Amino acid sequence: MPGTLYIVATPMGNLEDISFRAVRVLNEADLIAAEDTRHSRKLLNHYNISTPMIACHEHNEAQRSAGLISRLNKGETVALISDAGTPLISDPGYKLVRMAGEEGIRVVPVPGCNAAVAGLSAAGLPTDSFLFLGFPPKKQGRQCAALEAVKPNTATLVFYESPKRIKALIKRAEDILGNRSACLARELTKRHEEFIRGSLSRILAELETREQVKGECVLFIQGADPGEAAVSPEDLRTVILDRLKENPGTGALAKELASAFNLPKKQVYDTILSLKAD
Ligand code: SAM
Repeated sequence: MPGTLYIVATPMGNLEDISFRAVRVLNEADLIAAEDTRHSRKLLNHYNISTPMIACHEHNEAQRSAGLISRLNKGETVALISDAGTPLISDPGYKLVRMAGEEGIRVVPVPGCNAAVAGLSAAGLPTDSFLFLGFPPKKQGRQCAALEAVKPNTATLVFYESPKRIKALIKRAEDILGNRSACLARELTKRHEEFIRGSLSRILAELETREQVKGECVLFIQGADPGEAAVSPEDLRTVILDRLKENPGTGALAKELASAFNLPKKQVYDTILSLKAD
């Protein structure tokens, strides 16, 4: 029988933010694959966990995964952890989980911390629908294009960003999306935890008063106003024609674009069918 691969969420600051189950799984595993073993040692010491650790990070994941899969196939239990929060969420582990799935190995999540969800729960912005975008592209052109692409989306937008680049992201977001309501969550669960709420320009003005922005940041931006999200029939046709080059299913494309542009699905569906027929 192959062993089990556990995907274990760990704290993102406060060491108490870990479940009883996670501590037990880390204790009982044969091996912990950690993004940075030195960083995770602090957590393991805090909970007296002496399970052996090996490094599995973005630079060695492909090659490391083969070895881990072979150990799992021999019946060992492996727990994957990252430096903070939930592995695979803007963190390594995708290749390993993918390979495990292909090999028929059981993959079990042990849920817990995640900066996007924790921040969203206190941001004071709509939570009924949110779009996690991870780290935006670093290059200005690509970042602007990424913001343009999500401009019509009515879901709350969620970005991870480094403190060095956060002001530039807020400025571009204001330029492209307009001066929307937003929230910057900094240093979640840590001593200097902070939420700066208000319009994008107000958040930027607050950051401008500081010599330096420090700590880990998540930026939440309110989605497009449903009225604002409407597109002209001509623009809708252009988007559909462009997307049809990828040969998508009519139903799936109608659903996606209806949600993105806040239009009735039937209207989008009929437009797709008429353009396909032309
Ligand atoms: N896997 C993590 C998770 O589940 O949230 C995310 C890891 S990603 C490499 C690191 C980014 O997550 C940071 O740059 C920041 O945007 C966000 N982050 C992680 N810890 C945070 C914290 N304590 N406060 C605010 N943001 C945090």
